[in-house]
Amino acid sequence: MARSCLRNGILYNKRKINFTPSPLTGEVGGEGGLGTFTPHLNPPPQKGEEIFLGVIFEAMGTEKKKIRLQDISLRTEEPLTIVTTDDLMPLPPPLDRTGTKPPYPLLPEAKKKEVECSLDGVSAISLPKPKNKQEEKHLVERFLRGLEKLLSQNDNWLFWQPLIQSLETCVRCQTCSDACPVYVSSGRQEIYRPTYKSEVLRRIINKYIKKRGNILSKLTGDDIELNWPAVARLAELAYRCSLCRRCAQHCPLGSDNGLIGRELRKLFSQEMGIAPKEIHDAGTVQQLKVGVSTGISSSAFQGMVEFMEDEIEEKWGKRINIPVDKEGADILLIHNSGEFMSWIENPVAFAIIFEAAGLSWTLSSEIYGYEATNYGTWYDDVQLARISIKQVEVARKLKVKKMVMGECGHAHKGLIVIADRVLVDEMNFSRESFLPLLADLVCDEKLKLDPAKNNFAVTLHDPCNFVRLMGIVEPQRRILKKICPQFREMEPHGLENYCCGGGSGFAIMNSMNFKEWRENISGRMKLKQILETFNDVLDPSIKKYVCAPCSNCKGQIRDLIDAYHLGQNYGIRSGGLAELVVNAMADIEKSFIEWDSP
Ligand code: SF4
Ligand code: SF4
Repeated sequence: MARSCLRNGILYNKRKINFTPSPLTGEVGGEGGLGTFTPHLNPPPQKGEEIFLGVIFEAMGTEKKKIRLQDISLRTEEPLTIVTTDDLMPLPPPLDRTGTKPPYPLLPEAKKKEVECSLDGVSAISLPKPKNKQEEKHLVERFLRGLEKLLSQNDNWLFWQPLIQSLETCVRCQTCSDACPVYVSSGRQEIYRPTYKSEVLRRIINKYIKKRGNILSKLTGDDIELNWPAVARLAELAYRCSLCRRCAQHCPLGSDNGLIGRELRKLFSQEMGIAPKEIHDAGTVQQLKVGVSTGISSSAFQGMVEFMEDEIEEKWGKRINIPVDKEGADILLIHNSGEFMSWIENPVAFAIIFEAAGLSWTLSSEIYGYEATNYGTWYDDVQLARISIKQVEVARKLKVKKMVMGECGHAHKGLIVIADRVLVDEMNFSRESFLPLLADLVCDEKLKLDPAKNNFAVTLHDPCNFVRLMGIVEPQRRILKKICPQFREMEPHGLENYCCGGGSGFAIMNSMNFKEWRENISGRMKLKQILETFNDVLDPSIKKYVCAPCSNCKGQIRDLIDAYHLGQNYGIRSGGLAELVVNAMADIEKSFIEWDSP
Protein backbone atom coordinates (compact mmCIF):
# COMPACT_ATOMS: atom_id res chain seq x y z
CA MET A 1 0.00 0.00 0.00
CA ALA A 2 2.74 2.40 0.96
CA ARG A 3 4.54 1.74 -2.29
CA SER A 4 1.51 2.32 -4.47
CA CYS A 5 0.82 5.56 -2.61
CA LEU A 6 4.35 6.55 -3.30
CA ARG A 7 4.01 5.50 -6.90
CA ASN A 8 0.87 7.53 -7.35
CA GLY A 9 2.90 10.54 -6.41
CA ILE A 10 1.17 11.78 -3.28
CA LEU A 11 4.35 12.34 -1.41
CA TYR A 12 6.59 13.06 -4.28
CA ASN A 13 4.33 15.67 -5.83
CA LYS A 14 4.24 17.49 -2.50
CA ARG A 15 8.04 17.26 -2.44
CA LYS A 16 7.90 15.92 1.07
CA ILE A 17 10.48 13.25 0.53
CA ASN A 18 13.95 14.53 -0.06
CA PHE A 19 17.18 12.69 -0.51
CA THR A 20 20.62 12.89 0.98
CA PRO A 21 23.73 11.30 -0.46
CA SER A 22 25.09 8.56 1.78
CA PRO A 23 27.92 9.83 3.95
CA LEU A 24 29.87 6.71 3.07
CA THR A 25 29.30 6.33 -0.62
CA GLY A 26 27.93 9.64 -1.80
CA GLU A 27 25.11 7.68 -3.45
CA VAL A 28 21.48 8.52 -3.04
CA GLY A 29 19.72 5.94 -0.91
CA GLY A 30 19.39 4.93 2.64
CA GLU A 31 17.22 6.29 5.39
CA GLY A 32 13.53 5.77 5.29
CA GLY A 33 13.79 2.76 3.06
CA LEU A 34 14.87 4.74 0.04
CA GLY A 35 16.77 1.81 -1.34
CA THR A 36 13.40 0.11 -1.58
CA PHE A 37 11.27 3.02 -2.71
CA THR A 38 13.49 4.89 -5.13
CA PRO A 39 12.65 2.75 -8.19
CA HIS A 40 8.97 3.58 -7.78
CA LEU A 41 9.40 7.34 -7.90
CA ASN A 42 8.87 9.14 -11.14
CA PRO A 43 10.52 11.49 -11.89
CA PRO A 44 13.54 10.22 -9.97
CA PRO A 45 14.71 12.05 -6.85
CA GLN A 46 17.47 14.62 -6.92
CA LYS A 47 20.66 14.50 -4.93
CA GLY A 48 21.14 16.90 -2.07
CA GLU A 49 17.61 16.96 -0.73
CA GLU A 50 16.91 15.87 2.81
CA ILE A 51 15.01 12.70 3.58
CA PHE A 52 12.06 12.58 5.92
CA LEU A 53 11.77 9.36 7.83
CA GLY A 54 8.22 8.32 8.69
CA VAL A 55 7.16 8.70 5.10
CA ILE A 56 5.32 5.37 5.20
CA PHE A 57 2.79 6.59 7.73
CA GLU A 58 1.86 9.58 5.69
CA ALA A 59 1.70 7.43 2.60
CA MET A 60 -0.76 5.21 4.44
CA GLY A 61 -3.00 8.16 5.15
CA THR A 62 -2.37 8.38 8.90
CA GLU A 63 -1.49 11.55 10.76
CA LYS A 64 1.85 10.25 12.01
CA LYS A 65 4.65 12.71 12.58
CA LYS A 66 7.60 12.40 10.27
CA ILE A 67 10.50 11.08 12.30
CA ARG A 68 13.97 12.09 11.19
CA LEU A 69 17.29 10.98 12.59
CA GLN A 70 17.83 14.49 13.93
CA ASP A 71 14.59 14.24 15.93
CA ILE A 72 16.39 12.05 18.44
CA SER A 73 17.67 15.33 19.97
CA LEU A 74 14.33 17.17 20.10
CA ARG A 75 13.74 18.87 23.41
CA THR A 76 10.13 17.93 23.86
CA GLU A 77 8.14 16.20 26.54
CA GLU A 78 6.00 14.60 23.84
CA PRO A 79 7.26 11.22 22.68
CA LEU A 80 8.67 11.02 19.15
CA THR A 81 6.12 8.33 18.38
CA ILE A 82 3.08 6.91 20.08
CA VAL A 83 2.05 3.65 18.48
CA THR A 84 -1.68 3.03 18.17
CA THR A 85 -3.52 -0.25 17.80
CA ASP A 86 -4.40 0.76 14.24
CA ASP A 87 -0.70 0.98 13.41
CA LEU A 88 0.08 -2.56 14.46
CA MET A 89 0.55 -5.52 12.16
CA PRO A 90 -2.90 -7.20 12.06
CA LEU A 91 -3.44 -10.48 13.88
CA PRO A 92 -5.71 -13.23 12.57
CA PRO A 93 -9.39 -12.92 13.67
CA PRO A 94 -10.75 -12.72 16.31
CA LEU A 95 -7.64 -10.95 17.65
CA ASP A 96 -7.68 -8.41 14.81
CA ARG A 97 -8.45 -5.46 17.06
CA THR A 98 -8.32 -1.88 15.84
CA GLY A 99 -8.29 1.42 17.66
CA THR A 100 -6.59 4.77 17.82
CA LYS A 101 -5.27 4.35 21.36
CA PRO A 102 -1.85 2.93 22.22
CA PRO A 103 -1.90 -0.82 22.89
CA TYR A 104 0.03 -0.13 26.10
CA PRO A 105 -0.94 2.21 28.96
CA LEU A 106 0.78 5.59 28.92
CA LEU A 107 2.57 6.57 32.12
CA PRO A 108 0.69 8.75 34.60
CA GLU A 109 1.64 12.45 34.55
CA ALA A 110 3.47 12.22 37.89
CA LYS A 111 5.63 9.36 36.58
CA LYS A 112 6.35 11.21 33.34
CA LYS A 113 7.89 13.99 35.41
CA GLU A 114 10.24 11.49 37.06
CA VAL A 115 11.37 9.19 34.27
CA GLU A 116 12.33 9.53 30.63
CA CYS A 117 9.71 8.25 28.18
CA SER A 118 10.10 10.70 25.31
CA LEU A 119 10.94 8.01 22.76
CA ASP A 120 7.58 6.26 22.48
CA GLY A 121 5.81 6.81 25.80
CA VAL A 122 7.29 3.57 27.18
CA SER A 123 9.82 3.20 29.96
CA ALA A 124 11.80 -0.02 29.94
CA ILE A 125 14.61 1.14 32.16
CA SER A 126 13.00 3.70 34.53
CA LEU A 127 15.66 6.24 33.57
CA PRO A 128 15.41 9.17 36.01
CA LYS A 129 15.35 12.69 34.59
CA PRO A 130 18.44 14.73 35.43
CA LYS A 131 17.86 17.32 38.16
CA ASN A 132 19.41 20.25 36.31
CA LYS A 133 21.35 21.31 33.21
CA GLN A 134 24.65 20.65 34.91
CA GLU A 135 23.70 17.04 35.55
CA GLU A 136 22.51 16.70 31.94
CA LYS A 137 25.86 17.99 30.70
CA HIS A 138 27.75 15.61 32.95
CA LEU A 139 25.72 12.62 31.70
CA VAL A 140 26.24 13.59 28.06
CA GLU A 141 29.99 13.82 28.72
CA ARG A 142 29.98 10.36 30.26
CA PHE A 143 28.13 9.03 27.25
CA LEU A 144 30.79 10.44 24.96
CA ARG A 145 33.64 9.01 27.03
CA GLY A 146 31.88 5.65 26.97
CA LEU A 147 31.47 5.87 23.22
CA GLU A 148 35.20 6.48 22.85
CA LYS A 149 35.82 3.29 24.83
CA LEU A 150 33.43 1.26 22.68
CA LEU A 151 35.49 2.29 19.68
CA SER A 152 38.82 1.52 21.30
CA GLN A 153 40.28 -1.93 20.67
CA ASN A 154 42.00 -1.93 24.05
CA ASP A 155 38.91 -1.01 26.02
CA ASN A 156 36.33 -3.02 24.09
CA TRP A 157 38.11 -6.35 24.35
CA LEU A 158 35.05 -8.49 23.60
CA PHE A 159 33.18 -6.95 20.67
CA TRP A 160 35.37 -4.25 19.11
CA GLN A 161 35.94 -6.01 15.80
CA PRO A 162 32.30 -6.92 14.96
CA LEU A 163 31.14 -3.52 16.23
CA ILE A 164 33.48 -1.62 13.95
CA GLN A 165 32.60 -3.91 11.07
CA SER A 166 28.88 -3.30 11.66
CA LEU A 167 29.34 0.45 11.92
CA GLU A 168 31.46 0.71 8.80
CA THR A 169 29.84 -1.63 6.31
CA CYS A 170 26.20 -0.53 6.22
CA VAL A 171 25.21 0.90 2.82
CA ARG A 172 21.68 1.90 3.92
CA CYS A 173 19.96 -0.55 1.59
CA GLN A 174 17.31 -1.30 4.28
CA THR A 175 17.15 -4.99 3.42
CA CYS A 176 17.27 -5.61 7.16
CA SER A 177 14.13 -3.63 7.96
CA ASP A 178 11.57 -6.17 6.84
CA ALA A 179 13.49 -8.91 8.63
CA CYS A 180 12.93 -7.23 11.99
CA PRO A 181 9.89 -8.48 13.93
CA VAL A 182 9.73 -5.37 16.12
CA TYR A 183 9.75 -3.00 13.18
CA VAL A 184 7.21 -4.98 11.15
CA SER A 185 4.91 -5.76 14.10
CA SER A 186 4.81 -2.13 15.13
CA GLY A 187 3.50 -1.10 11.73
CA ARG A 188 6.95 -0.04 10.58
CA GLN A 189 7.62 2.73 13.09
CA GLU A 190 10.77 4.56 12.04
CA ILE A 191 12.22 4.58 15.53
CA TYR A 192 12.14 0.78 15.57
CA ARG A 193 13.78 0.36 12.17
CA PRO A 194 16.97 -1.69 12.75
CA THR A 195 19.11 1.07 11.28
CA TYR A 196 17.56 4.01 13.15
CA LYS A 197 19.61 3.66 16.33
CA SER A 198 22.68 2.58 14.37
CA GLU A 199 22.55 5.53 12.01
CA VAL A 200 22.06 7.97 14.87
CA LEU A 201 25.09 6.46 16.56
CA ARG A 202 27.16 6.62 13.38
CA ARG A 203 26.41 10.30 12.99
CA ILE A 204 27.24 11.05 16.60
CA ILE A 205 30.54 9.22 16.12
CA ASN A 206 31.28 11.14 12.93
CA LYS A 207 30.58 14.49 14.51
CA TYR A 208 31.83 14.12 18.09
CA ILE A 209 34.52 11.40 17.92
CA LYS A 210 35.86 11.65 14.38
CA LYS A 211 35.33 15.44 14.56
CA ARG A 212 34.14 15.93 11.05
CA GLY A 213 33.88 19.67 10.32
CA ASN A 214 30.56 21.40 10.76
CA ILE A 215 30.06 22.15 7.08
CA LEU A 216 30.78 18.58 6.06
CA SER A 217 28.49 17.32 8.82
CA LYS A 218 25.66 19.45 7.53
CA LEU A 219 26.29 18.45 3.92
CA THR A 220 26.27 14.75 4.73
CA GLY A 221 23.38 14.93 7.17
CA ASP A 222 25.65 14.00 10.07
CA ASP A 223 24.58 16.98 12.08
CA ILE A 224 22.86 15.39 15.05
CA GLU A 225 23.08 17.35 18.26
CA LEU A 226 24.29 15.21 21.13
CA ASN A 227 22.25 16.39 24.09
CA TRP A 228 20.48 14.74 27.00
CA PRO A 229 17.22 13.99 25.10
CA ALA A 230 19.28 12.14 22.46
CA VAL A 231 21.16 10.15 25.09
CA ALA A 232 17.97 9.31 27.00
CA ARG A 233 16.17 8.19 23.84
CA LEU A 234 19.13 6.05 22.78
CA ALA A 235 19.12 4.39 26.21
CA GLU A 236 15.48 3.41 25.79
CA LEU A 237 16.00 2.51 22.13
CA ALA A 238 18.65 -0.03 23.10
CA TYR A 239 15.78 -1.84 24.86
CA ARG A 240 13.39 -1.87 21.90
CA CYS A 241 15.56 -4.42 20.08
CA SER A 242 15.52 -8.01 21.34
CA LEU A 243 19.04 -8.67 19.96
CA CYS A 244 17.59 -11.52 17.88
CA ARG A 245 20.01 -10.72 15.00
CA ARG A 246 17.53 -11.62 12.29
CA CYS A 247 18.43 -8.30 10.68
CA ALA A 248 22.10 -9.30 10.64
CA GLN A 249 21.25 -12.60 8.96
CA HIS A 250 19.47 -10.72 6.18
CA CYS A 251 22.09 -8.01 5.73
CA PRO A 252 24.07 -8.65 2.52
CA LEU A 253 27.14 -7.18 4.21
CA GLY A 254 26.78 -8.84 7.61
CA SER A 255 26.22 -5.59 9.45
CA ASP A 256 24.70 -6.46 12.83
CA ASN A 257 22.26 -3.88 14.16
CA GLY A 258 21.47 -6.21 17.06
CA LEU A 259 25.10 -6.06 18.15
CA ILE A 260 25.06 -2.28 17.89
CA GLY A 261 22.05 -2.28 20.22
CA ARG A 262 23.84 -4.59 22.62
CA GLU A 263 26.95 -2.43 22.63
CA LEU A 264 24.84 0.63 23.37
CA ARG A 265 23.42 -1.23 26.36
CA LYS A 266 26.99 -1.96 27.43
CA LEU A 267 28.00 1.67 27.19
CA PHE A 268 25.04 2.69 29.35
CA SER A 269 25.70 -0.01 31.92
CA GLN A 270 29.48 0.00 32.20
CA GLU A 271 30.05 3.74 31.81
CA MET A 272 26.89 5.32 33.16
CA GLY A 273 25.41 2.76 35.56
CA ILE A 274 22.17 2.66 33.53
CA ALA A 275 20.49 -0.74 33.10
CA PRO A 276 17.07 -2.28 33.76
CA LYS A 277 16.87 -3.31 37.40
CA GLU A 278 15.46 -6.72 36.46
CA ILE A 279 18.63 -7.73 34.64
CA HIS A 280 21.16 -5.77 36.69
CA ASP A 281 20.13 -5.35 40.36
CA ALA A 282 17.89 -8.41 40.50
CA GLY A 283 19.99 -10.21 37.89
CA THR A 284 23.76 -10.15 37.70
CA VAL A 285 24.32 -8.24 40.95
CA GLN A 286 22.14 -10.71 42.82
CA GLN A 287 23.86 -13.64 41.08
CA LEU A 288 27.32 -12.39 41.99
CA LYS A 289 26.19 -11.90 45.60
CA VAL A 290 24.31 -15.16 46.25
CA GLY A 291 25.33 -17.25 43.23
CA VAL A 292 21.96 -17.39 41.54
CA SER A 293 19.71 -14.75 40.00
CA THR A 294 16.51 -16.19 41.46
CA GLY A 295 18.01 -15.97 44.96
CA ILE A 296 17.55 -19.70 45.71
CA SER A 297 19.98 -20.63 48.50
CA SER A 298 21.98 -23.84 48.34
CA SER A 299 19.89 -25.44 51.11
CA ALA A 300 16.65 -24.40 49.36
CA PHE A 301 18.03 -25.92 46.17
CA GLN A 302 18.69 -29.21 47.95
CA GLY A 303 15.12 -29.14 49.26
CA MET A 304 13.96 -28.73 45.66
CA VAL A 305 15.97 -31.77 44.63
CA GLU A 306 14.11 -33.82 47.26
CA PHE A 307 10.83 -32.46 45.92
CA MET A 308 11.91 -33.51 42.43
CA GLU A 309 12.62 -37.04 43.70
CA ASP A 310 9.09 -37.17 45.15
CA GLU A 311 7.66 -36.00 41.82
CA ILE A 312 9.63 -38.64 39.94
CA GLU A 313 8.37 -41.35 42.29
CA GLU A 314 4.81 -40.20 41.76
CA LYS A 315 5.07 -40.07 37.97
CA TRP A 316 7.46 -42.94 37.27
CA GLY A 317 6.55 -45.25 40.13
CA LYS A 318 10.16 -45.58 41.25
CA ARG A 319 12.34 -43.49 43.50
CA ILE A 320 15.77 -42.37 42.34
CA ASN A 321 18.50 -40.41 44.04
CA ILE A 322 19.23 -37.43 41.84
CA PRO A 323 23.02 -37.13 41.81
CA VAL A 324 24.20 -33.88 43.36
CA ASP A 325 27.88 -32.85 43.66
CA LYS A 326 29.04 -36.23 42.31
CA GLU A 327 32.76 -35.81 41.74
CA GLY A 328 34.15 -37.10 38.45
CA ALA A 329 30.77 -37.52 36.71
CA ASP A 330 30.82 -37.26 32.92
CA ILE A 331 28.31 -34.43 32.83
CA LEU A 332 27.52 -31.46 35.04
CA LEU A 333 23.97 -30.53 33.98
CA ILE A 334 23.26 -26.88 34.59
CA HIS A 335 19.75 -25.39 34.30
CA ASN A 336 18.39 -21.87 34.24
CA SER A 337 17.36 -21.55 37.90
CA GLY A 338 14.03 -20.11 36.77
CA GLU A 339 13.13 -23.70 35.88
CA PHE A 340 13.31 -24.71 39.55
CA MET A 341 11.06 -21.80 40.48
CA SER A 342 8.48 -21.87 37.69
CA TRP A 343 8.76 -25.08 35.65
CA ILE A 344 10.24 -27.73 37.93
CA GLU A 345 8.82 -30.39 35.58
CA ASN A 346 11.67 -29.52 33.20
CA PRO A 347 14.59 -30.47 35.53
CA VAL A 348 12.46 -33.44 36.66
CA ALA A 349 12.16 -34.55 33.02
CA PHE A 350 15.92 -34.24 32.49
CA ALA A 351 16.57 -36.32 35.62
CA ILE A 352 14.23 -39.06 34.40
CA ILE A 353 15.81 -39.11 30.92
CA PHE A 354 19.40 -39.14 32.16
CA GLU A 355 18.66 -41.89 34.70
CA ALA A 356 16.69 -43.98 32.20
CA ALA A 357 19.57 -43.68 29.71
CA GLY A 358 22.12 -44.64 32.37
CA LEU A 359 24.26 -41.53 31.99
CA SER A 360 27.00 -40.54 34.41
CA TRP A 361 25.82 -37.09 35.45
CA THR A 362 25.33 -34.71 38.33
CA LEU A 363 23.78 -31.46 39.42
CA SER A 364 25.74 -29.09 41.63
CA SER A 365 24.56 -27.51 44.87
CA GLU A 366 27.50 -25.08 44.93
CA ILE A 367 26.54 -21.48 44.45
CA TYR A 368 27.00 -20.66 40.72
CA GLY A 369 26.64 -24.40 40.02
CA TYR A 370 22.84 -24.55 39.79
CA GLU A 371 22.40 -21.40 37.71
CA ALA A 372 23.09 -21.34 33.98
CA THR A 373 21.87 -17.80 33.41
CA ASN A 374 24.26 -14.96 32.80
CA TYR A 375 22.34 -11.77 32.14
CA GLY A 376 25.63 -9.99 31.45
CA THR A 377 25.27 -11.59 28.01
CA TRP A 378 22.59 -9.00 27.26
CA TYR A 379 24.18 -5.81 28.48
CA ASP A 380 27.54 -5.84 30.29
CA ASP A 381 30.86 -7.56 29.48
CA VAL A 382 32.30 -7.21 32.97
CA GLN A 383 29.33 -8.90 34.62
CA LEU A 384 29.36 -11.54 31.87
CA ALA A 385 33.02 -12.37 32.48
CA ARG A 386 32.71 -12.47 36.28
CA ILE A 387 29.79 -14.90 36.17
CA SER A 388 31.23 -17.18 33.45
CA ILE A 389 34.43 -17.64 35.41
CA LYS A 390 32.55 -18.56 38.60
CA GLN A 391 30.37 -21.08 36.75
CA VAL A 392 33.34 -22.84 35.18
CA GLU A 393 35.22 -22.92 38.50
CA VAL A 394 32.41 -25.09 39.91
CA ALA A 395 32.77 -27.61 37.08
CA ARG A 396 36.54 -27.75 37.44
CA LYS A 397 36.28 -28.29 41.18
CA LEU A 398 33.84 -31.16 40.64
CA LYS A 399 36.24 -32.72 38.11
CA VAL A 400 33.42 -33.50 35.68
CA LYS A 401 34.28 -34.10 32.03
CA LYS A 402 31.97 -31.44 30.61
CA MET A 403 29.22 -28.97 31.37
CA VAL A 404 25.91 -29.45 29.57
CA MET A 405 23.51 -26.50 29.34
CA GLY A 406 19.82 -27.23 29.82
CA GLU A 407 16.94 -25.43 28.12
CA CYS A 408 18.18 -21.84 28.26
CA GLY A 409 19.08 -19.98 25.07
CA HIS A 410 21.04 -17.07 26.47
CA ALA A 411 23.02 -19.44 28.73
CA HIS A 412 24.13 -21.18 25.55
CA LYS A 413 25.15 -17.82 24.11
CA GLY A 414 26.87 -16.61 27.26
CA LEU A 415 28.64 -19.68 28.56
CA ILE A 416 29.25 -21.70 25.40
CA VAL A 417 29.88 -19.01 22.77
CA ILE A 418 30.86 -15.62 24.19
CA ALA A 419 32.71 -17.00 27.20
CA ASP A 420 35.21 -18.51 24.78
CA ARG A 421 36.72 -15.02 24.66
CA VAL A 422 36.96 -14.93 28.45
CA LEU A 423 37.84 -18.48 29.49
CA VAL A 424 41.43 -18.95 28.40
CA ASP A 425 43.97 -21.70 29.09
CA GLU A 426 42.86 -24.14 31.81
CA MET A 427 39.61 -22.23 32.27
CA ASN A 428 38.53 -23.18 28.75
CA PHE A 429 36.48 -26.08 29.99
CA SER A 430 34.33 -28.30 27.75
CA ARG A 431 30.81 -26.82 27.46
CA GLU A 432 27.99 -28.23 25.34
CA SER A 433 24.34 -27.86 24.48
CA PHE A 434 21.85 -30.49 25.70
CA LEU A 435 20.30 -30.70 22.22
CA PRO A 436 22.66 -33.07 20.34
CA LEU A 437 22.89 -35.28 23.44
CA LEU A 438 19.10 -35.50 23.80
CA ALA A 439 18.67 -36.15 20.07
CA ASP A 440 21.13 -39.05 20.27
CA LEU A 441 19.34 -40.54 23.30
CA VAL A 442 15.96 -40.34 21.54
CA CYS A 443 17.02 -41.37 18.05
CA ASP A 444 19.52 -44.06 19.03
CA GLU A 445 16.75 -45.71 21.06
CA LYS A 446 18.42 -45.38 24.45
CA LEU A 447 14.91 -44.71 25.79
CA LYS A 448 11.75 -46.79 25.32
CA LEU A 449 9.36 -44.40 23.64
CA ASP A 450 5.76 -44.61 22.50
CA PRO A 451 4.98 -41.65 20.18
CA ALA A 452 1.25 -42.40 20.39
CA LYS A 453 1.36 -40.86 23.87
CA ASN A 454 2.15 -37.50 22.24
CA ASN A 455 -0.66 -37.66 19.72
CA PHE A 456 -1.63 -33.99 19.87
CA ALA A 457 -0.69 -30.93 17.82
CA VAL A 458 2.86 -29.77 18.59
CA THR A 459 4.82 -26.93 17.12
CA LEU A 460 8.33 -25.72 17.85
CA HIS A 461 9.52 -22.25 18.70
CA ASP A 462 13.20 -21.92 17.73
CA PRO A 463 15.12 -19.88 20.33
CA CYS A 464 17.30 -17.42 18.37
CA ASN A 465 20.45 -18.39 20.23
CA PHE A 466 20.19 -22.06 19.25
CA VAL A 467 19.47 -21.58 15.58
CA ARG A 468 20.85 -18.24 14.46
CA LEU A 469 23.77 -17.94 16.82
CA MET A 470 24.89 -21.57 17.12
CA GLY A 471 23.40 -23.26 14.06
CA ILE A 472 21.70 -25.96 16.17
CA VAL A 473 18.65 -26.57 13.99
CA GLU A 474 18.23 -30.30 13.33
CA PRO A 475 18.58 -32.09 16.71
CA GLN A 476 15.35 -30.64 18.10
CA ARG A 477 13.56 -31.59 14.87
CA ARG A 478 14.92 -35.12 14.92
CA ILE A 479 13.48 -35.49 18.40
CA LEU A 480 10.07 -34.02 17.63
CA LYS A 481 9.67 -35.96 14.39
CA LYS A 482 10.43 -39.15 16.29
CA ILE A 483 8.09 -38.61 19.25
CA CYS A 484 5.29 -36.29 18.09
CA PRO A 485 3.12 -37.71 15.27
CA GLN A 486 1.36 -34.36 14.80
CA PHE A 487 4.47 -32.16 14.80
CA ARG A 488 4.06 -29.16 12.53
CA GLU A 489 6.48 -26.34 11.76
CA MET A 490 5.83 -22.65 12.25
CA GLU A 491 6.49 -20.53 9.21
CA PRO A 492 9.16 -19.31 8.98
CA HIS A 493 11.25 -21.56 11.21
CA GLY A 494 14.79 -22.79 11.83
CA LEU A 495 17.38 -20.22 10.85
CA GLU A 496 14.60 -17.91 9.68
CA ASN A 497 12.67 -18.08 12.96
CA TYR A 498 11.23 -15.02 14.63
CA CYS A 499 12.20 -14.11 18.18
CA CYS A 500 9.52 -14.82 20.80
CA GLY A 501 9.71 -11.13 21.68
CA GLY A 502 11.14 -11.89 25.11
CA GLY A 503 14.77 -12.20 24.06
CA SER A 504 17.64 -10.21 25.58
CA GLY A 505 15.96 -9.89 28.97
CA PHE A 506 12.58 -8.62 27.73
CA ALA A 507 10.78 -11.67 29.14
CA ILE A 508 11.69 -10.73 32.69
CA MET A 509 11.32 -6.95 32.28
CA ASN A 510 7.96 -5.89 33.65
CA SER A 511 8.39 -2.45 35.12
CA MET A 512 6.33 0.62 34.14
CA ASN A 513 4.49 -0.17 30.87
CA PHE A 514 7.14 -2.37 29.28
CA LYS A 515 5.29 -5.68 29.79
CA GLU A 516 2.37 -4.41 27.70
CA TRP A 517 4.81 -3.13 25.07
CA ARG A 518 6.48 -6.55 24.71
CA GLU A 519 3.14 -8.40 24.69
CA ASN A 520 1.75 -6.12 22.00
CA ILE A 521 4.77 -5.31 19.88
CA SER A 522 7.91 -7.40 20.33
CA GLY A 523 5.87 -10.60 20.85
CA ARG A 524 3.30 -9.88 18.17
CA MET A 525 5.01 -11.78 15.35
CA LYS A 526 5.34 -14.92 17.49
CA LEU A 527 1.71 -14.66 18.56
CA LYS A 528 0.67 -14.43 14.91
CA GLN A 529 2.83 -17.42 14.02
CA ILE A 530 1.35 -19.56 16.80
CA LEU A 531 -2.22 -18.75 15.79
CA GLU A 532 -1.51 -19.39 12.11
CA THR A 533 0.26 -22.67 12.83
CA PHE A 534 -2.75 -24.01 14.74
CA ASN A 535 -5.44 -22.35 12.63
CA ASP A 536 -7.05 -25.65 11.59
CA VAL A 537 -7.27 -26.97 15.16
CA LEU A 538 -8.24 -23.88 17.15
CA ASP A 539 -11.17 -25.61 18.86
CA PRO A 540 -10.31 -25.40 22.59
CA SER A 541 -11.09 -29.08 23.11
CA ILE A 542 -8.16 -30.03 20.83
CA LYS A 543 -4.82 -30.12 22.69
CA LYS A 544 -2.04 -27.95 21.31
CA TYR A 545 1.51 -27.61 22.61
CA VAL A 546 4.07 -24.92 21.77
CA CYS A 547 7.45 -26.46 22.49
CA ALA A 548 9.79 -23.67 23.62
CA PRO A 549 13.09 -25.22 24.74
CA CYS A 550 14.38 -22.06 26.45
CA SER A 551 13.39 -20.71 29.83
CA ASN A 552 13.08 -17.08 28.73
CA CYS A 553 11.18 -17.92 25.53
CA LYS A 554 8.87 -20.12 27.61
CA GLY A 555 8.21 -17.20 29.96
CA GLN A 556 7.40 -14.84 27.10
CA ILE A 557 5.15 -17.39 25.37
CA ARG A 558 3.38 -18.08 28.68
CA ASP A 559 2.76 -14.33 29.01
CA LEU A 560 1.41 -14.15 25.45
CA ILE A 561 -0.87 -17.13 26.12
CA ASP A 562 -2.16 -15.43 29.29
CA ALA A 563 -2.54 -11.95 27.79
CA TYR A 564 -4.53 -13.21 24.80
CA HIS A 565 -6.37 -16.04 26.65
CA LEU A 566 -5.03 -18.61 24.24
CA GLY A 567 -5.39 -21.37 26.83
CA GLN A 568 -9.09 -20.92 27.58
CA ASN A 569 -10.12 -19.89 24.08
CA TYR A 570 -7.97 -22.16 21.91
CA GLY A 571 -6.54 -24.90 24.13
CA ILE A 572 -2.94 -23.77 23.52
CA ARG A 573 -0.25 -24.35 26.16
CA SER A 574 3.51 -24.16 26.12
CA GLY A 575 6.32 -26.15 27.68
CA GLY A 576 9.80 -27.51 27.18
CA LEU A 577 11.27 -30.26 25.01
CA ALA A 578 12.40 -32.67 27.73
CA GLU A 579 8.81 -32.84 29.03
CA LEU A 580 7.62 -34.10 25.64
CA VAL A 581 10.31 -36.79 25.65
CA VAL A 582 9.27 -38.03 29.09
CA ASN A 583 5.59 -37.82 28.16
CA ALA A 584 6.38 -40.32 25.38
CA MET A 585 8.27 -42.75 27.61
CA ALA A 586 6.60 -46.13 27.44
CA ASP A 587 7.06 -47.06 31.09
CA ILE A 588 5.55 -43.88 32.53
CA GLU A 589 1.87 -44.62 32.88
CA LYS A 590 0.54 -41.21 33.92
CA SER A 591 0.58 -38.25 31.55
CA PHE A 592 3.72 -36.31 32.38
CA ILE A 593 2.34 -33.14 30.82
CA GLU A 594 -0.35 -31.66 33.02
CA TRP A 595 -2.81 -30.07 30.64
CA ASP A 596 -4.57 -28.07 33.34
CA SER A 597 -1.42 -26.11 34.22
CA PRO A 598 -0.68 -22.96 32.21
S1 SF4 B 1 22.49 -3.09 8.03
FE1 SF4 B 1 22.85 -4.24 6.11
S2 SF4 B 1 20.76 -4.67 5.35
FE2 SF4 B 1 20.56 -3.03 6.86
S3 SF4 B 1 20.67 -1.14 5.70
FE3 SF4 B 1 22.76 -1.60 6.36
S4 SF4 B 1 23.68 -2.76 4.69
FE4 SF4 B 1 21.47 -2.78 4.34
S1 SF4 C 1 18.30 -7.71 16.38
FE1 SF4 C 1 16.18 -8.38 15.96
S2 SF4 C 1 14.89 -6.92 17.09
FE2 SF4 C 1 16.94 -6.01 16.93
S3 SF4 C 1 16.89 -4.73 15.11
FE3 SF4 C 1 17.67 -6.73 14.48
S4 SF4 C 1 15.88 -7.90 13.80
FE4 SF4 C 1 15.13 -6.12 15.00
